[in-house]
Amino acid sequence: MIKIAASMPAEYRDASSEELARRIAAAKESLGSRLLILGHHYQMDEVMDFADARGDSFGLSKIAAEQRDAEIVVFCGVHFMAESADILTGPEQRVILPDLSAGCSMADMADIDQVEAAWADLATIVDIERVVPITYMNSTAAIKAFVGRHGGAVCTSSNARAVLAWALGDEKASARGDRVFFLPDQHLGRNTALSMGYDQEELVLWDPAQPLGGQMSDVIEQSRVLLWKGHCSVHGRFTIDQVRRFREENPEGKVIVHPECTQDVVESADAWGSTDFLIRWIEAAPIGTVVTIGTEVHLVSRLAKEHPELTITCLDDEVCPCITMARIDAPHLAWVLEEAMEGRIRNQITVDPETARWSLVALERMLEIT
Ligand code: SF4
Repeated sequence: MIKIAASMPAEYRDASSEELARRIAAAKESLGSRLLILGHHYQMDEVMDFADARGDSFGLSKIAAEQRDAEIVVFCGVHFMAESADILTGPEQRVILPDLSAGCSMADMADIDQVEAAWADLATIVDIERVVPITYMNSTAAIKAFVGRHGGAVCTSSNARAVLAWALGDEKASARGDRVFFLPDQHLGRNTALSMGYDQEELVLWDPAQPLGGQMSDVIEQSRVLLWKGHCSVHGRFTIDQVRRFREENPEGKVIVHPECTQDVVESADAWGSTDFLIRWIEAAPIGTVVTIGTEVHLVSRLAKEHPELTITCLDDEVCPCITMARIDAPHLAWVLEEAMEGRIRNQITVDPETARWSLVALERMLEIT
């Protein structure tokens, strides 16, 4: 991947929010249909107010790919999302991440060298041809390409169940392999597999810092799902004590959480599912419902604002923003847009053709499955 880094001039940092809003709006108008601004659900309102489309990482990338006349795609999200957008869009479209330091701690927990080494270790224990790698969308393009090369697929939090069933077989289809190597979020993998009826003993944690993932070879041989030891630092903050406290204070209240939360939190919730699921749950809730949500706080705050007929709180009352998502702010958005108006593309994300090719294989397999 090539990163063309440039520093944002101080004038943007010093500008008032009113001035930035005016300049962003003017740049948007000037660029017209050549520009598409995508806003992930976890973005701050100062950015979301200018998004042409809101959604999760995969949904937004698909929107970018469908709008071929948008030659400048500004992805207000984190790094892996802009990579996916670059993979899915055409060669004439350029994808910009307003601040290159907007990464994802979960995606960074699965380094390609570590994954290659783990794969080689696994091959000494089990028939590697019968291991199906699956990676969550929240992973680098290098990991998606690895999965594509080795016969696996990408999944999202909406379709993880269907992709696991495709790999391990179910009543409708035969298995692709004996076990899955699930990257990089152990919680999404564990919560999904348990909900499908797999036993706890069949789910084995692979710690890349330990020889053989920290497991005995017989444990690996008996596994059905090997879970990479990665997690989301935001969703990892939610605890079973927070759920208990909420229920004590709100006996009639509901708890809904994202599957990146730990198993105990997910099992104690009234409902759990992807970001889209959580939004739809809120939209369908009866007037007067008291609900706490275990997901990123900018999304929770926006839902609370948009649904005054409900009482909506964040499960973690200490507040839990995704710090890296919040690096995309109005100053960076104004800067990249005004530079684009002058014909200068700042902070372009470009995935090399070979990585893009195999990532696309893994993404297209997911689309075929779901
Ligand atoms: S919320 Fe978690 S998974 Fe999502 S971008 Fe932030 S760190 Fe990554």
